[in-house]
Amino acid sequence: MKCIFCSNNESKVVDSRYLKDTSIRRRRECLRCGKRFTTYETVETNPMVVTNVDNVREPFKTEKLAESIRYATYCVDSGASVDNIVDKIESRLLSLQKQEISTKDIVKIALDVLIEVSNMACLVYYIQHTDCDNFDGVRRFINR
Ligand SMILES: [Zn+2]
Repeated sequence: MKCIFCSNNESKVVDSRYLKDTSIRRRRECLRCGKRFTTYETVETNPMVVTNVDNVREPFKTEKLAESIRYATYCVDSGASVDNIVDKIESRLLSLQKQEISTKDIVKIALDVLIEVSNMACLVYYIQHTDCDNFDGVRRFINR
């Protein structure tokens, strides 16, 4: 998102509000000039459809993703805000330019982003989103 003051491309999210299921108001701070501006983002123009393991399709919901990231990072002092993590995952998903995306894709990308934040958060998310119910799965994951 380009800064409206200095045209810099890099900004961080300092606050997010979910207005509807498909719309988000984000308060951003420019990483170069430090000024703040607000963006309204909506996925209505290009709604991603999520297919889960049972082949049930539903519209992608940022709030749902944010909830699982909040959960995974709850006890972790990562220094990265939930909003920024969600923003990163979402832009990675959008850059795939797919209309339809599987929950598996989302989990993969989320893990990839989370591992840079905290191993613990990554592990919590992994256990929460896979059918891993034993330590072998966790060990395989750690050793991959
Ligand atoms: Zn700026």
